[in-house]
Amino acid sequence: LKVYYELERILSDITGFYKTTLQPSAGSQGEMVGLLLMQSYHRSKKINNKKYIIIPETAHGTNPASVIMSGYEVKQVKSNDRGRVDIDHLFEIVDEEVAGMMLTQPNTLGLFEDEIEKICEIIHNVDGLMYMDGANLNALVGIVKPANMGFDIMHINVHKTFSTPHGGGGPGAGPVAVNEKLSDFLPGPMIECEKGRY
Ligand SMILES: *Cc1c(COP(=O)(O)O)cnc(C)c1O
Repeated sequence: LKVYYELERILSDITGFYKTTLQPSAGSQGEMVGLLLMQSYHRSKKINNKKYIIIPETAHGTNPASVIMSGYEVKQVKSNDRGRVDIDHLFEIVDEEVAGMMLTQPNTLGLFEDEIEKICEIIHNVDGLMYMDGANLNALVGIVKPANMGFDIMHINVHKTFSTPHGGGGPGAGPVAVNEKLSDFLPGPMIECEKGRY
C-alpha cells in the first residue's frame, strides 16, 4: 500500500494534479475512467444536456472508441496547416452540449499544442472538461505540468513515459490523475495515509 500510495503521490506531483488512481490497467482504460468521471461530475452539477466529446482528427483510435463506450458521441475538430487544433473550427462546433474534449499533448504528430490555454478556455466556457491523453507525456516531464496548462483529467501511459519509448508492446498501466474538483469521483477504494498507517 505504501508503494502504491507513494507512486500515486509522485505521479500527481509530476503532472500537477491533486489525486491519482492506479486502477486503470491501460491508457485506453484510463480514457474510459476519465470520461465516466466527466459524466459523474456533470450529473453532480445537475447538468443533463451533455452529449458530445470533441476530439481532433489526429487522435489515437482509442479516443473515439472510449467516447462511444462511455455513451457519448464524437465531434471531430480539424487540424490547421500547422498540424494543431484549428481554433476557428473549434469555435464553430463547440456548444452547451459538449461534455468535454480529449487532446493528446504533444499531439500524435509530435507537435506541442501551443494554443492549449485558449483551447481549454473555449471548452471551460461551456462547462466542458479537458482530458489530456498522456501517451506522449515523456516529452513534457520536468518541463511543464499538464494541470498548469488547464487540463482537468489525464491518463499516464506509464509503460510509454517511464519505460521503452512508446511502450514497446507492454505490459502497461494507465493511472488517471485529476484536479481537486474531480477527486471525489475517482473509483474506490483509494489508499489513504494516516499517522504512518496505510
Ligand atoms: C498508446 C496510446 C493510447 C492507448 O494506450 P494503451 O495503454 O495502449 O491502452 C491512447 N492514446 C495514444 C495517443 C496512444 O499513443
